[in-house]
Formats: sequence, C-alpha cells, structure tokens
Amino acid sequence: MANRFQVRDRFAGGAQFIGGRPRPGTSGRTHAVVNPATGEELYVYELAGPADVDAAVAAAREAFPGWSGTTPGERSDALHRLAAVLAEQADDFAYAESLQCGKPIKLSTEFDVPGTIDNTAFFAGAARHLQGASAGEYSADHTSYVRREPIGVVGSIAPWNYPLQMAAWKILPAVAAGNTIVLKPAEITPFTSLMFARAAQEAGLPDGVINIVTGAGPDAGERLVGHPDVVMTSFTGSTAVGKRVAEIATATVTRLHLELGGKAPFLVFDDADLEAAVHGAIAGSLINGGQDCTAATRAYVQRPLYDAFVSGVAELMETVRLGDPFDPATDLGPLISHTHRDRVAGFVDRARGHARIVTGGEAPGGAWKDGAYYRPTLVADAAQDSEIVQSEVFGPVLVVLPFDSDDEGIRLANDTPYGLAASAWTRDVHRAGRATRELRAGCVWVNDHIPIISEMPHGGYKASGFGKDMSAYSFEEYTQVKHVMYDNTAVARKDWHRTIFGDRPQ
Ligand code: NAD
Repeated sequence: MANRFQVRDRFAGGAQFIGGRPRPGTSGRTHAVVNPATGEELYVYELAGPADVDAAVAAAREAFPGWSGTTPGERSDALHRLAAVLAEQADDFAYAESLQCGKPIKLSTEFDVPGTIDNTAFFAGAARHLQGASAGEYSADHTSYVRREPIGVVGSIAPWNYPLQMAAWKILPAVAAGNTIVLKPAEITPFTSLMFARAAQEAGLPDGVINIVTGAGPDAGERLVGHPDVVMTSFTGSTAVGKRVAEIATATVTRLHLELGGKAPFLVFDDADLEAAVHGAIAGSLINGGQDCTAATRAYVQRPLYDAFVSGVAELMETVRLGDPFDPATDLGPLISHTHRDRVAGFVDRARGHARIVTGGEAPGGAWKDGAYYRPTLVADAAQDSEIVQSEVFGPVLVVLPFDSDDEGIRLANDTPYGLAASAWTRDVHRAGRATRELRAGCVWVNDHIPIISEMPHGGYKASGFGKDMSAYSFEEYTQVKHVMYDNTAVARKDWHRTIFGDRPQ
C-alpha cells in the first residue's frame, strides 16, 4: 500500500488535541513512535503532562453545558455525520492503524475501521433511544419519574492493541449520552485517536467535546483519573494498572468502568466438529498477533480429540504468513514493540522446562529480524497452575491441555482470575447450554470465537473488570438516573408530617 500521508506532517501541531486545537505537550519529555515492523522512528512528540490534562479537562468542562443541552436528535445527527467522515477517510485510518501497530492491513481494513464506523452509526441511533422507568404514582400522593442525565466530564484511558476501536468504544457512548470527554491513548499509538477527534470536529461536534491528551500513564494518566473535575474514569488496559486506577478513583469517589485483561478458554468437547475447532483456534488465538483481550489462549480439548487437535493446529499454524503489514497477503505482522515481543518470548522460554513447544517458540530471522516478530506458537502439556496457563501472555501463543469429563473441562476453563470471554465447541445443545450458563465470562461463544457486534455488550467478569462497552448497556456507565417526585395533594399539612412533629391533621 502506498504511504498515504507523512505522519510528521499530519501531526506537526503536536500529539495533544485540546479545545479543538492540536498542541504540543508541556511535560518536558518526548516520546518516539516506532514502526514495529522495521524499528524505524516514525514521529517524535512532546508528551502531555499534568498541565495539559488540566487544560483538556477545563475545555471539556466548558463544553459540557452546551453539549449536554443538545437534544438526542442533534447528537444523533452529529454522530451520523461523523460516521460519514470516517467512511470517507477509511483508507487513511487503516493505513495509520497498521503503521503504528504493525497489524496486517487486511485486519485494519476489514475489522478495525469498518467496526469503528459501524459503532459510530450504532451510537448515532442509540442516542435517540435512551430509556428509563415510566412515570407513575408509586405513592398515592405523588408522581415519580426518572430522568436519565449525562454525568459530566469523563476521563478515559485506552491501550495500544486496538487504538482506534478503543478510542471509539470510549468516546461514542460518552458523547452520545451528552457527556464531554478527555481520552488518553497509549503513548506508543497516538495517531488514530487524534484522527478520530479531528474527524469529529469536521463532522461538526463542538470544540472541547472530545479532547485527547497523549502522555505517560503515571503522570498524565494518574492526573486524569484523580482530577477533581473528572466525574468518571473509563479505563481499558491491564489488570495491574486497573488496580492502580481503582485506588486513585476510590480516593476521589469517582465512578469507574474497568475493562481489564483476559485469558479466554476455548473448550472443545468430544462431539465437536474438529475441523471447525482447529480453524477457529487459529483465528481466535492469532487475531491481532494474539494481542487481543478476548483471544483464545487456553484450549481445553476432551481426550478423544486431543491428539488430532494438537497436530491439526500445529500444521495450520505453520501455514500462517508472517510479513510486511502492508502486504495484503500478510496474516501476522510484528507485535507492538520489541520490548513486548521479548516479554512474550520470556513466557514461552520459562515454559520450556515443563511443557512441550509443539511449533513456533522463536522470533523469525531473515527479512523480519529487525521487526518485533514472533512465530505462532503452540504449547502443550503445561500444568494448569503454571504461568503460561494462568497469566496473560498477549502474543501469538496458544496453550492446549486435555480434559476427561465435562465437569473437569468447565472447572479448568473457569480456573484463572480472568473472566472476559470464552468459547465452547460442541454439536450437543445440552452441552452448549450448560457451557453458556457455567462459564464465568462476559461473553461466551458457541462454535466460534472472536466476533463482536455493536449491539451487544462487551465487558468482563472477575478480574477482567466491570461495566460494559458497546451496546445500549454502555449507557448505564455514562449516565446517571435521577428520581424526580411531585406532590399531587397540594395540602400544606401533610399526613406523614405527624411522624416528625405534632398530631394527625384534623
Ligand atoms: P496497560 O495497562 O499497560 O496500559 C493501558 C493504558 O493505561 C495506557 O494508556 C497507559 O499509558 C495507561 N497507564 C499506565 N499506567 C498508568 C497509571 N499508573 N495510571 C493511569 N494510566 C496508566 O495496558 P496495555 O499494555 O496498553 O494494553 C494491554 C492490556 O489491555 C491487556 O491486559 C489487555 O487484556 C487489556 N485490554 C483489555 C480490553 C478489554 O476490553 N477488557 C481491551 C483491550 C485491551
């Protein structure tokens, strides 16, 4: 794919977008965005510091009365226009996303960008459909109703694995409900969040409704979470950082939505369609280089299918084409950074002593030696309590373990601290029903693994967090409900007053 634009020119104004204007950060520290496929430095920018966060929150606060005073119809129109602008710029978004993340262009073009446009169109519609309880006389003397209101300035923090989609998942429900927002993307992947904010401006969203601060977690991130004018934090990232964010939010009594890590089980019963399970395991574990919080990471396969599953997955993994992210034939690009690649390799290396590396387990040499590449890896015979089975590796690594009874399979699948996603592979409706009831995860697929849709909620159980992205359920996070109660009697001396003073009125 031709280089559609020069990132240095495109982001010449800086990597902050505050009150509708690009700006450099003022932290006094710079960051270099690196192309993970080549190691080449793409763009150096000044990171946001606490003063930039303060300016962004002030801009969002100033924009709040106007934006929250718009009608749902006006917000819906603005988001429909945003969907159209995103569609016009789809090629640029796909290019920038692949450049900063190293993800194959076919994934950016067919998943990240259309998914974001669809999400935008969904929230344009959902903005007009905010519902609450109906008004009624729940006491004989009063009429009650519920107002669903925006909450104010939202502070959001996003990870690097799907920068565009994560920005959209945070921004869209917040602004559709009438809030204003300050988003901090991961400092290593700023491009598409900045482009999204600019596209919103082009679509006519007022300045200050969407602000971007690109800074490091411990200073810009913590300042945002702890800021006295931020009424809610929506965080997507690792469970470890989520715990730190929760501590700060607890101290300031800030509403919290946490989308954290995952370690999704992939449960194959002995009546499953083996070919479907093998293909599903490759797609489910290697999507985005395995840097996906819902990726299949632990395949539990019932004993009669175990050997065939292991050899089928290994054989298919070896056909996966590593390569240049901009080659339309590339299946697997580099991981996000060399540091992260080494972290993934560390998990596999530590497993070698007690588990079998069936295929992969190394970085490729040759043409790809300068990039952050790692071969698709299948690990067998690891112990259930070992690090590679329990911890989030976040790379192209699938671990496979056998099980005997259905009870054992479900027990092992539930046996990690995480609970974001899971899948069950079976042709038996009763097994599928049991798995969907008993797997402790925010999403359970049957005979598939990965697909998401704008209309359905995404969010975790257990240490994978709480609260929902996407779907109308996300409005529960970004709105607050107010009980309004009217007296219907027009009586000065109300009967119930006697419980506080005096006697029953005559
Ligand atoms: P991370 O937790 O290291 O960072 C996430 C964000 O938090 C980044 O913007 C980072 O700068 C910021 N941050 C870091 N320290 C901070 C601090 N002290 N205070 C405030 N902010 C801070 O995660 P990552 O490595 O960028 O992303 C990968 C993780 O994200 C994985 O664990 C993955 O499972 C998770 N994830 C979860 C979901 C979900 O929907 N549950 C989706 C995508 C990714």
